Amino acid sequence: MLGLMQDHPLLISGLLDFAARYHGDTEIVSRRVEGDVHRTTYAQVQRRAAQCANALDALGLQAQDRVGTLAWNGYRHFELYYGVSGSERILHTINPRLHPDQIAWIVNHADDRMVCFDLSFAPIISAIAPRCPGVRHWVALCAPEALPAELSALPGLLSYEALLAAQSAQYTWPVFDENTASSLCYTSGTTGNPKGVLYSHRSTVLHAYAAALPDVMNLSARDSVLPVVPMFHVNAWGVPYAAALTGTKLVFPGPALDGKSLFELMQAEGVTLAAGVPTVWLGLLNFMRDNALRLPALQRTIIGGAAAAPAMIRAFEEELGIHVLHAWGMTEMSPLGTLCSLKNKHLALSKEAQFAIQVKQGRPIFGVDVRVVDGNGTDLPWDGKSTGNLLVRGPWIASDYYRSDDPSPLQDGWFPTGDVVSIDPDGYIQITDRTKDVIKSGGEWISSIELENIAMAHPGVAMAACIARPDPKWDERPLLVVVRREGSTLDRAELLQFYQGKVAKWMIPDDVVFVPAIPLGATGKMLKNRLREQFAESQSAAAG
Ligand code: ADP
Repeated sequence: MLGLMQDHPLLISGLLDFAARYHGDTEIVSRRVEGDVHRTTYAQVQRRAAQCANALDALGLQAQDRVGTLAWNGYRHFELYYGVSGSERILHTINPRLHPDQIAWIVNHADDRMVCFDLSFAPIISAIAPRCPGVRHWVALCAPEALPAELSALPGLLSYEALLAAQSAQYTWPVFDENTASSLCYTSGTTGNPKGVLYSHRSTVLHAYAAALPDVMNLSARDSVLPVVPMFHVNAWGVPYAAALTGTKLVFPGPALDGKSLFELMQAEGVTLAAGVPTVWLGLLNFMRDNALRLPALQRTIIGGAAAAPAMIRAFEEELGIHVLHAWGMTEMSPLGTLCSLKNKHLALSKEAQFAIQVKQGRPIFGVDVRVVDGNGTDLPWDGKSTGNLLVRGPWIASDYYRSDDPSPLQDGWFPTGDVVSIDPDGYIQITDRTKDVIKSGGEWISSIELENIAMAHPGVAMAACIARPDPKWDERPLLVVVRREGSTLDRAELLQFYQGKVAKWMIPDDVVFVPAIPLGATGKMLKNRLREQFAESQSAAAG
């Protein structure tokens, strides 16, 4: 027997309709590429998303055609999120930090019909356009008078504002199967070609509900949320959808992601929640420390995408009074998997005992089912100690990659995350490594994240990466690559001494290399594969 409930598909257009109707005057604030601050509202966004959808119709784009974007976090990108997906096309967010060769490859693999871009990415468009014959329209996100001169000869060049101005602000969003594809995002492809993850309307709306939950982002119509995480990286972790679902004010930072710019925007817009990867928080943390500044409105930050070092979490909590929610997820998971917040029984614990939980990646959100297994696929106990591969499944987790020649990655219906973890009896997950980053020394595994976290706790360290260096006796040994804090004279011996008593002796890195900077990938994560290539052969003074 079926239930007697109305059958309404979960569609992305419904999120914007809701926000425009019930939170129409709630603001969307954007720092633009031009440097100024732009203000709009959900009601205006809905009108312009409708104009955008009408423009796509007028240009002859079909349902399910792919529309690429190369854009920062801002109101026009936000309009495209709804105008494109709402009208049954697929929004393909492209990471502009990738190499132009990779971008051209992705545009062709996705078979994009249109690509919309911020003016700062005009050089990328010049480089890729001749190699992307399938793209019929190159839409610059600007007024017609601002169209870049360097692209004037580009066939199919259009101004977004001119396109919208020619269209009506009335549009009836089509109603279709909620399992229809809505958006496409490629993984950064640190190994091999990037892989396309194809989200659906259903997965996106369910993920938005989950993101808004109290123990996740705890979003409400009283919040002001700033996604530092880019809209080209897993839909800014779903914030643009979850904010509409809750009527939350949105603040978009555009390209200005340095500590000073973020601080000023957060202060001016009363931001209560911000979300981003650890490397961007370092900039904000240092700026606020150096200038003895505070953000009284900012209650919490979500830090994820890479391990947040306990020292960073402590600095936010104790020095700045900002609560940190450590989160874990991946592109294939829309991305939210776990988030770390305490349970009632933890409230009676000492501050230090609470902190020991808070530094973990957190517990699964309803909708994400997890298992930890050994190399044979046998389940390991949830004892907080046994480490193995993490498998996940759920309605917003990928079942396959877009246009992939490989078989589905699923194992018995479970997606292998490639992360090595332990799970404690309360379900809190701790990531010890990515399978490809773990250091295998004499048959034992050493967690690179654990060694990095210790280095990050030293006041002289700004950033640290721990990588495996081949070793004739032990197979691999840990090598620490460190960026010193400005003004620090920290040396190798002092840093290695700092490890004494914090981990078993055999886990202490063999050597330390000081570098001016650690290479970061397109999503702001440390490129350990690059470091391995660079330093794997280096001679250690100690080992030599
Ligand atoms: P990629 O970096 O490969 O493009 P993602 O951005 O989807 O893909 O990264 C997902 C991976 O990032 C996870 O599998 C995990 O290894 C790592 N990661 C994400 N969040 C955390 C975290 N809080 N702690 C440690 N690792 C994390």
